[in-house]
Amino acid sequence: MSHVTVYPCASYEGVPAEVERAFAAYAPPMDGKRVVLKVNLLGPCRPEEHVTTHPSLVSAAVAACRRRGAAEIVVGDNPGMSSYGSTDHVARMTGTIEAAAGCYRNIAEAPRMVEVPTPGVGRVPVSRAVLEADVVIGLAKMKTHVATGITGAVKNTFGYVVGAAKTQLHAACPGKEAFARAVLDVYALRPPDFSIVDAVYAMEGQGPSGGQPRFVGRLLASADNVALDAVMARMMGFRPEQIPYLVAAAERGLGEIGDDRIHVEGPTDPIPGFRRPKYGQSMGTWGARLVSRIYVTQPQADTDICIKCGACARQCPVEAIRMDPYPVIDAARCISCFCCHEFCKPKAMRLAPRIRIMKFLRGRK
Ligand code: SF4
Ligand code: SF4
Repeated sequence: MSHVTVYPCASYEGVPAEVERAFAAYAPPMDGKRVVLKVNLLGPCRPEEHVTTHPSLVSAAVAACRRRGAAEIVVGDNPGMSSYGSTDHVARMTGTIEAAAGCYRNIAEAPRMVEVPTPGVGRVPVSRAVLEADVVIGLAKMKTHVATGITGAVKNTFGYVVGAAKTQLHAACPGKEAFARAVLDVYALRPPDFSIVDAVYAMEGQGPSGGQPRFVGRLLASADNVALDAVMARMMGFRPEQIPYLVAAAERGLGEIGDDRIHVEGPTDPIPGFRRPKYGQSMGTWGARLVSRIYVTQPQADTDICIKCGACARQCPVEAIRMDPYPVIDAARCISCFCCHEFCKPKAMRLAPRIRIMKFLRGRK
């Protein structure tokens, strides 16, 4: 039986008290240990955009580790893939450096090459600080995700992989089930000892960066990161069985997703009218699977909003975008990973269904 706690938290001023409760319930001994706080720093976004882990969660977690006598505390992430400048710039923009109070480190430096079992990938650079830590604590964000349905405690660990190497995993794993495997292959390298998910403000709609902030007023915590995400998914209006990486995680014995296997304390009522992503990867139902055989979702730049920065083309793992002068998508090459959507800061990349009747007739997925 796994345990998940949901802490009501009406504002970010209340975060330190609830984080201390979460540490009291779930933190392993950390006296004299090396601790990594793995935050979600997707890109250079201000805290009020609610794309990244809120700085109040970072400062509260650092203080909680200090109170427990941690010998070394490292706060870090590997944001994005190959754009937006340096990791340090993202950490500064998101308020992480200031909140980390001397504990921020660029964990992209001096990575260790690690073999992952994902077919066709081989070795990828992974943050050495994570692999050599005694304790890893995830500080994630509750968000929708156009490629994976949701992102929380498990998907946060995809940031163990340094920068542009994430493209190898995307390119090798087109499609939602394959990408779920890649996400879990990285997660399994070092599951966090426990995670806290920031849902004071979550993101709904076209997350993880193109959606809208939504006040939820809760923090979630658990030592079973999979169970935590399953509880979070239900609050967001999904069944865990609709999220491919949760299904695969349960099959691999990485955590629980059944509500009869998870003991939950606190308010888990679904968030009224929470908006799920539109046109993302189909989410598990037979109807959605049938529709996905006929339609494929692909991006298209809105030229009224696009600033021709080219970030989408740099992020595309299969080089399906050429700038002319706006982004032009090669539909045959596109694998619908939606990295271009995720990393378009002006939110100019739209997702829309495109018919693929020939693929349907050939019976391909
Ligand atoms: S679609 Fe977005 S990321 Fe791509 S060039 Fe336009 S503004 Fe930049
Ligand atoms: S065009 Fe966008 S959705 Fe298609 S493969 Fe490239 S990054 Fe992924």
